[in-house]
Amino acid sequence: MSDCTTRTTCPYCGVGCGVLATPGKDGVAIKGDPQHPANFGRLCSKGSALGETLDLDGRLLHPEIGGKRAGWDESLSLVAERFSQTIAEHGPNSVGFYLSGQMLTEDYYVANKLMKGFIGTANVDTNSRLCMASTVVGHKRAFGADIVPGCYEDLELADLVILVGSNMAWCHPVLFQRLQSAKAERPQMKIVLIDPRRTKTAEMADLHLPIAPDGDVALFNGLLQYLADAGQLDQSYIDRHTNHFDEALTAAKMSLKALHAKTGLSADQLAEFYRLFAQTEKVVTCFSQGVNQSSEGTNKVNAIINCHLATGRIGKKGAGPFSLTGQPNAMGGREVGGLATMLAAHMEIGNPAHRELVQRFWQSPAMASEQGLKAVDMFDAVANGKIKAIWVMGTNPVVSMPDANKVANALENCPFVVVSDIMADTETARFAHVKLPALGWGEKDGTVTNSERRISRQRAFLPAPGEARADWWHMAEVGKRMGHPSAFDYRSASDIFAEHAALSAFENNGTRDFDLGEYASLSPKDYEKFQPTLWPRRKGQKGVSQRFFAGGHFFTPDGRANFVATPTDTETALAQPTKLRLNTGRVRDHWHTMTRTGKSAALSAHIAEPYCEISPGQAAKIGVRTAELVEISAAGQKVLARAIINPKLGHDQIFVPMHWNGNFSSNGRINALVPGKTDPFSGQPALKAAQVDVRAA
Ligand code: SF4
Repeated sequence: MSDCTTRTTCPYCGVGCGVLATPGKDGVAIKGDPQHPANFGRLCSKGSALGETLDLDGRLLHPEIGGKRAGWDESLSLVAERFSQTIAEHGPNSVGFYLSGQMLTEDYYVANKLMKGFIGTANVDTNSRLCMASTVVGHKRAFGADIVPGCYEDLELADLVILVGSNMAWCHPVLFQRLQSAKAERPQMKIVLIDPRRTKTAEMADLHLPIAPDGDVALFNGLLQYLADAGQLDQSYIDRHTNHFDEALTAAKMSLKALHAKTGLSADQLAEFYRLFAQTEKVVTCFSQGVNQSSEGTNKVNAIINCHLATGRIGKKGAGPFSLTGQPNAMGGREVGGLATMLAAHMEIGNPAHRELVQRFWQSPAMASEQGLKAVDMFDAVANGKIKAIWVMGTNPVVSMPDANKVANALENCPFVVVSDIMADTETARFAHVKLPALGWGEKDGTVTNSERRISRQRAFLPAPGEARADWWHMAEVGKRMGHPSAFDYRSASDIFAEHAALSAFENNGTRDFDLGEYASLSPKDYEKFQPTLWPRRKGQKGVSQRFFAGGHFFTPDGRANFVATPTDTETALAQPTKLRLNTGRVRDHWHTMTRTGKSAALSAHIAEPYCEISPGQAAKIGVRTAELVEISAAGQKVLARAIINPKLGHDQIFVPMHWNGNFSSNGRINALVPGKTDPFSGQPALKAAQVDVRAA
């Protein structure tokens, strides 16, 4: 490694790969970091092409007010003044922050401190709500805390890996490579893919179950019932370490007719899967957006966890449920309370003692007293005028949110919109009264936490372009101008990380399990040298917590895990859909709304334009052939895409990627067709099952 090389972390998916970046006269050379425990030197196509995405084309380089270049001082003062004025006239709940899983943990910390501790509302949510909110609630219901029980190594040690609602080959490619290598070494390892689509991931699967959309609760309820009927429960584990098993089993019961109707799977397919699970001790069940992005996402998570608890397959090497987070820092945001429903350091906003403790630590004047608005509700509140000032950071909700046109209209009519972004002209930035230039990957400093709870550093190796500054700095400067100079007097990301660590240890006499106190007096030099580290660890525990819940000790008050009753919605199972189900998702080489990956010719060469996967029968019905255009419509909105005929796709389904926003029409945002329906527990939108019409264009 040369002296000019910087160790950092990839900014794309939740695998969180270590990257070596070496700036030179021909650009920045990118390599995988052989020492990083997430990837051991591997990178996928997106990570390898990072050097091609670092130019300044399209970058927002100076603050703007009303579309005109402005100075930092006047821009920040205007933001502080308008937020203060709105709060004074309409109360703290009239303002909101909408953040991003791209932001670093330090950015999240300052946003949550300013909003929850100093403005006095919890209206601070994030696009992570669209990514893993259902898992957060599922974990808390079952384990008493939002903890991922295992780590990446467990996938390599398992004898059976079940992938639910995950196209891991494209969406978590390096973890998929690790799984491929493990299977090559131990061909007896079995992989089951549960996904309505036959994706690239299916090519490695020993068994692909083309489940009906939203059939997952029924599938895992059926598994619990099967395990009970076949005498395959670990009754001793259930008795010693869990509560509420009988309720969960009773709720899981359903007729075979309902099971087949809801899952769309044959008796043979179900029997093969259930037998495999029952007969294999080391089972890891990985789940991703097909589980989370559903109107019953939280129950899907708990139905999966129930089966692991019922067999004691958790907290052991090579066994456990495992959430694959979509974004690079969805987990880090959670550590510092980065959702409207939580407080920092895994404390509860609904717990008066926790609120009082955090307020005392922050010495804050106006602590939020209740949960704030979740993403969909937040933009609804902008639409109906309850929120009158919103600050959007590092995300493009006019493209990525469900009911995207409603979001656009809401922002257009909002009295005051601030956007912090690296790009000058996003669909969302067009509605901004004030635009603040943020630092991009390679320019900013801080930490991120990946899917296995490993904190890694993102380090700067490029100078800040123009007048761009870190997101945390934007908010700290506004906080100072709102009358709190000492509370937001940070010199660097390192100061913020140390404060976050100190809060986790504040008056922590062992009653709270999350304690990063050893980093509370971290010096900037130590922060610079920070090595990838798994967290949290139990207070007093020595060494790294690779796995939680070994020995059956959970984070609930009585230390026992909870089974959660997850009844199957059999009514909708038996109803005949009248429209096609729209499944949305990522392609291999693009990220979200393509502001960065769209710059790379190599990445764009993989799939150059939006497409619509459609079954042969449906294609014949509407008279369309491969590569011809189809029009997808719902709720008065239309999107054009090129047809790809997929013989393995269900007759009533289509798949369209979520990245492209212009498409072939002027208004081609696929999420404009998805209604803002959410999971009742997590508030996560159901982005994978909108009802649409399709016809030849
Ligand atoms: Fe980046 Fe994810 Fe690819 Fe790793 S797998 S290089 S984190 S996009």
